[in-house]
Amino acid sequence: MNYYSAPIARLIEEFSKLPGIGRKTAQRLAFYVISLSEEDAVKLSRAIIEAKKSIRYCNICTNLTDQDTCLICRDKKRDQSVICVVEDPRDVVAMERTKEFKGFYHVLHGAISPLDGIGPDDIRIKELLVRLQGDNVKEVILATNPNIEGEATAMYVTRLLKPLGIKVTRIAHGIPVGGDLEYADEVTLAKALEGRREL
Ligand SMILES: [Zn+2]
Repeated sequence: MNYYSAPIARLIEEFSKLPGIGRKTAQRLAFYVISLSEEDAVKLSRAIIEAKKSIRYCNICTNLTDQDTCLICRDKKRDQSVICVVEDPRDVVAMERTKEFKGFYHVLHGAISPLDGIGPDDIRIKELLVRLQGDNVKEVILATNPNIEGEATAMYVTRLLKPLGIKVTRIAHGIPVGGDLEYADEVTLAKALEGRREL
């Protein structure tokens, strides 16, 4: 039995399709939207429509942007010799927050995952190869996730780039800051050991 009138039920239905939103949260959000002033409700719906209409892929790094080229690719002060390869636009934001990386990015929009039917042609690897045709880029940092798909992608890209004579590096994985060796799993600890550096 449906306890809600059709428009509310539809709103709940739409919210519950969002990632990480269960039925209860969807209900809460729907009722929150109903309680908004008409002006705020219109603002919210416009923000969704405008973001959807204006956001596209940067024609250089494939990050999300509302222009042909994203803000980072337009920044002439950045280091042209390094490209950091990530899986997702959110990873660019995470890297930028560190304020440690001054090069450019390349967003793959996924990782190779044969089990899910995602092969090398389904992610933006070809676009990366096109960018490496000039001789500006000296190093490619592979910052794909430290899981099976991320590692497989890093291995695949490495095999493609090695013959081009470009230095290929992988971000180190290991013990999180504030973590405890005692509680780290074997794989994490082994990776931390492997990625050790001289002090
Ligand atoms: Zn870009």
